[in-house]
Amino acid sequence: MKTKAFIGIGSNLDDPIAQVKNAIDALGRINDARLIDASRLYRNPPMGPVEQPDYVNAVAALETGLSAEALLAELQRLEAEAGRKRNGVRWGPRPLDLDLLLYGEAVIDTPSLQVPHPGIPERAFVLYPLAEIAPDVSVPGMGPIGELLAGVSDDGLAVIG
Ligand code: AMP
Repeated sequence: MKTKAFIGIGSNLDDPIAQVKNAIDALGRINDARLIDASRLYRNPPMGPVEQPDYVNAVAALETGLSAEALLAELQRLEAEAGRKRNGVRWGPRPLDLDLLLYGEAVIDTPSLQVPHPGIPERAFVLYPLAEIAPDVSVPGMGPIGELLAGVSDDGLAVIG
């Protein structure tokens, strides 16, 4: 059985636009996963206290036969390939950050995996690109995407032309 999963992609280091585009291509090459859609790229001022360059964000949709846990392992492999330092500063710059946002209608809450990703409702840089490719999606336990969008400011968020 195939499940539709949405992946949040972010980068603010080592040519972020190229990192995000490469990540979208790499997601499509995961075994037993097919890229079915990807949003435009968005430029977004960084969160948190560390002085760092703007983030580039996007959301991709996959259709996959992998379990959510196996898909997360693939995402972590791609992050590692992009050179992310897992022992680095928590909010610091990173070449590639991949989050499993949604996995079908699943609600998962284990120490290593929470789905839907708990950051979804407060993050404009996730909600806008997600709404672009899934305007009718309802986030389990959180509500329809339109309602979630109404709760965030798009301050500083800009589509990259
Ligand atoms: P971060 O540094 O914010 O990318 O967090 C990475 C950690 O979050 C990893 O240890 C994952 O096991 C955990 N995690 C929990 N839920 C998720 C999710 N839905 N997507 C990605 N990572 C997750």
